[in-house]
Amino acid sequence: MFITAHTSAALWISTRITDPILAFILGIASHFLFDMIPHGDESLADHVQGKKEKFKYFIRVALIDMILATILVYFFVSHGPIVDPYVLYPAVLGTWLPDIAWITIEYLKLSKLYWYIYFHSKVHNFFNWQYSIVYGVPFQIIVTLAVLKISF
Ligand SMILES: [Zn+2]
Repeated sequence: MFITAHTSAALWISTRITDPILAFILGIASHFLFDMIPHGDESLADHVQGKKEKFKYFIRVALIDMILATILVYFFVSHGPIVDPYVLYPAVLGTWLPDIAWITIEYLKLSKLYWYIYFHSKVHNFFNWQYSIVYGVPFQIIVTLAVLKISF
């Protein structure tokens, strides 16, 4: 799922608990839980030729996604319920970390950690059901808005 959708889970977590370490752990757990849901972005870079070009494309999308997620956090901090930043930020970090780890391992070619990339892709394909990004993006926007709705 996009980082923005994962971030909505972090916002929700920060409204429910007060322990920063637990927030971080739940952030990570929510990431994998969200990734298990078929979310239609597996074919995101299918139109791009070449492994290196595909990866560059992913990085560009991830950067835009992280900017959107940061705006979402800012909006939540300025307009949302009062939450402890020492709980919110570890939760956000927890939801981002699994994808940051994946991109870092892939980018730096840390072959000893490739088991993690395998695990991450296994989680993604848990239900073995893929569909078009045309439905994936609206689905992820709905998930993000629904989680935000229960967070406010
Ligand atoms: Zn992920």
